Amino acid sequence: MTGRQFVHAKLSVLFIYEKAKAKVVLGGGPDHLVWGFDHGDGFSVRDLKKGLDDIKPPNGNYVMEWNNWVPKKVGIHAWRAEMGIIPVLFELVKRGISVRTAVCPICEDELESAEHLMILCVFAQTLWSAISSWCKVPSIFAFSVKDLLGLHRFLHFPKTKAKAFNAVCMTTIWCIWRSRNALVFEGKLINLNNVVGEIKVLSFM
Ligand SMILES: [Zn+2]
Repeated sequence: MTGRQFVHAKLSVLFIYEKAKAKVVLGGGPDHLVWGFDHGDGFSVRDLKKGLDDIKPPNGNYVMEWNNWVPKKVGIHAWRAEMGIIPVLFELVKRGISVRTAVCPICEDELESAEHLMILCVFAQTLWSAISSWCKVPSIFAFSVKDLLGLHRFLHFPKTKAKAFNAVCMTTIWCIWRSRNALVFEGKLINLNNVVGEIKVLSFM
């Protein structure tokens, strides 16, 4: 098995784990846990087998380029965002989890999907614009998190500079998620300059 195949196998196991693991359901009575393949009747071997049969890790042969210049948690978060398995509100609704609203908590204008939060939200757009100015790269356009994670390949940078820019992109995705969570769970308003500062500090580190 090559290193690349090993990474893909490892990511597939992580993906299956993310799909199958239990989740807390809030609202509609007392909070309770459901496991990932639950069809409403609790755990069963039949549901487990069907769930595993149905699982096909998305994006076929695509394997995210790992970057060892970012902390593991930042890399794993970027991978999860690219796979569409970060718990944005729209993903929770798609999985039948009861939430008060699926609207983006930042702009309160569109459904909160990973693409909206990381790319299309007015906050994300302004942030990526600031990042492109800081890194002296052309305006950043992307349609998916996968695009963001592959931008460094199209900038004709030397290898080291491309890796550094990729690390900045992963760090930005991480900081958007942290800012969003601070707003949702702690009521902390998002300050663009603070987030840009945080990205710069984390990227230098
Ligand atoms: Zn938004």
